[in-house]
Amino acid sequence: MSALVRWEGFLAQIEDRHKTVRAEAEGSARAFIASVAAGGDYLPLSHQLMAVNNRLQELETKIIDTWHEKVDDAITGEGHSTAERDRQYAKGEALKHALDDAREELEPRIFAELARQRWTHAQAQHQGAVCTQCRAQLATPIAFRAYEMPCPSCGQRTLVEPSELLRSVAAVGTHAVAQEATNAEWRAMRGAERAMRAYRPPYPIESIKAYERAQITYWFKYLSVRSQFEPELARDPAMEVRSRMEQWYTMFAEHEQSWVAAGRPRERI
Ligand SMILES: [Zn+2]
Repeated sequence: MSALVRWEGFLAQIEDRHKTVRAEAEGSARAFIASVAAGGDYLPLSHQLMAVNNRLQELETKIIDTWHEKVDDAITGEGHSTAERDRQYAKGEALKHALDDAREELEPRIFAELARQRWTHAQAQHQGAVCTQCRAQLATPIAFRAYEMPCPSCGQRTLVEPSELLRSVAAVGTHAVAQEATNAEWRAMRGAERAMRAYRPPYPIESIKAYERAQITYWFKYLSVRSQFEPELARDPAMEVRSRMEQWYTMFAEHEQSWVAAGRPRERI
């Protein structure tokens, strides 16, 4: 069997195992979610996903490790051109990236599902509060945080607290739901970063700008979904995005020759 065929077969096998591990993890996670949808400790789910994450990462790491251990030499030893060798390496790297994306998306999807199921239960269990002074029934809206409700009969303000279940919806869902809803933008952002890093440094300014814009798009969408749980994020979305980008500008862009040479061309956010 030629080295190219063996490499091809190895990649297919890694892809297949990765898919199987993900499918099994998702299946058992969904069964577990059903058992804690109305309440209970969900920590075992985090532990389970951590173990799955390690297993998946091991599979991803094997691709480039195996390439360096034997595939590179075997392909070159069979007299293939450098261009062919590079093409084969790129195939392995593309698979690694695709599997990395699939792994990263698994956990938010599972926790978003748990949050949605708990939300359904929390809504069904929601009851109005009672005025602490005159005992009048208050029609209190469902909310993730405590708030004060004025009584329509006596004017007394009563503190309304979210139920334990509702608090857990926010704890589980705040990031997961926002991240799940932003998959397309998140993938575009990672794609832009990989495209930039595929150049030998210094990176061309166009590739840096494309990555910058993809990040900004991601943050606007992510924060707008996240503001369902954290309403203060919706007050000044541009300011929120600017503050999340600041570190990238100072820690990354500032050290790029082409960025500095172009006059630090930040997007107007
Ligand atoms: Zn009252």
